[in-house]
Amino acid sequence: MIRTTKRTVPAHEVTEFVSCTCDLCGAKTTSFTSAGEVNWIGDPFNYHFVTVQQQKGTMYPSDNFSRVWSYHLCPTCYRDKLVPFLESQGVGKPAFEEREY
Ligand SMILES: [Zn+2]
Repeated sequence: MIRTTKRTVPAHEVTEFVSCTCDLCGAKTTSFTSAGEVNWIGDPFNYHFVTVQQQKGTMYPSDNFSRVWSYHLCPTCYRDKLVPFLESQGVGKPAFEEREY
């Protein structure tokens, strides 16, 4: 025989991603992957991620720590504003690769 009892478990807080706004134009998306990556096209079978960030930290066998500074840019601002700005600074075309899974 299994006996059960009811008890109240204190609520706990979880972080849920609600929306992301482009830092340049204000475009907004509410689409995220389960890992919290912003998916600007909002389609569960296709994605468009834009990542502009700096990460600094430590990596030891017992402990890791990092700080991350990020800009959130929509794909249009990445293509039409960031890339032309970097090119105007003498940077070539962005690195490109195709991946197949
Ligand atoms: Zn934008």
